[in-house]
Amino acid sequence: MRLFDTHAHLHFPDFAEDLPAVVERARAAGVRAMVTIGTDRETNRAVVELSKQYPDVWATVGIHPHDAGDAAEADFEEIERLARDEYWVVGFGEMGLDFFRDLSPRDAQAKVFRRQIDIARRVRKPLVIHCRDAHDETLAILGEERAGETGGVMHCFSGDVAIARRCLDLGLYISLAGPVTYKNARALPDVARFVPEDRLVVETDCPYLPPTPHRGKRNEPAYVGLTAEHVAGLRGADPEALSDALTVNAARLFRITLT
Ligand SMILES: [Zn+2]
Ligand SMILES: [Zn+2]
Repeated sequence: MRLFDTHAHLHFPDFAEDLPAVVERARAAGVRAMVTIGTDRETNRAVVELSKQYPDVWATVGIHPHDAGDAAEADFEEIERLARDEYWVVGFGEMGLDFFRDLSPRDAQAKVFRRQIDIARRVRKPLVIHCRDAHDETLAILGEERAGETGGVMHCFSGDVAIARRCLDLGLYISLAGPVTYKNARALPDVARFVPEDRLVVETDCPYLPPTPHRGKRNEPAYVGLTAEHVAGLRGADPEALSDALTVNAARLFRITLT
């Protein structure tokens, strides 16, 4: 089994005690690469440091919509510098809009989102997009800011088939996380069947959202195979072949050469 966890937060305190063991379990489960995702000033520094310690862990730098209200000019400069200078930084994000928790003013979220797309287009690295209860607004911004020129992924996709189609039309990948395995997965099984095989990836978003049967516990990259297997079941695909295809997609998305 060859797997790729496209979205993890390995630098979070949840993993401070046992990260080497977490990475070991991921490798043993067939995870060939993981991307640890920055969300604010402190974590952007932390992801770069962490990715330097593990040859199979890569990083993205960005400002989460929750943190948009606190973003300063220096943060955008640092993101751009890290993405230009650091070998292990393979993308920007997570960025986007979150109208579910609304932890930052919506106009600040939109402004910070647009600014990061602009940086990503200039640096030519893909976007990792977070979107909750804001699909129309997110897709409008992605279109207006010509996000298709740099590409990216809708992480932890939570929309329906119609929204998935609009994301694909923008040139984005769709990433499915643990919720596709839940009983109340809503439209996600249909999305899992709908997205063309060459545009789909999987993630854990660990430590959050563990796939069945690990709900209620800490999530970790070793579990990404459970989501991939579930998606294979929904599509009537061979789990090993699909996992391999998703791994190739993720490597293409982040422009990583897997050895
Ligand atoms: Zn997110
Ligand atoms: Zn995340």
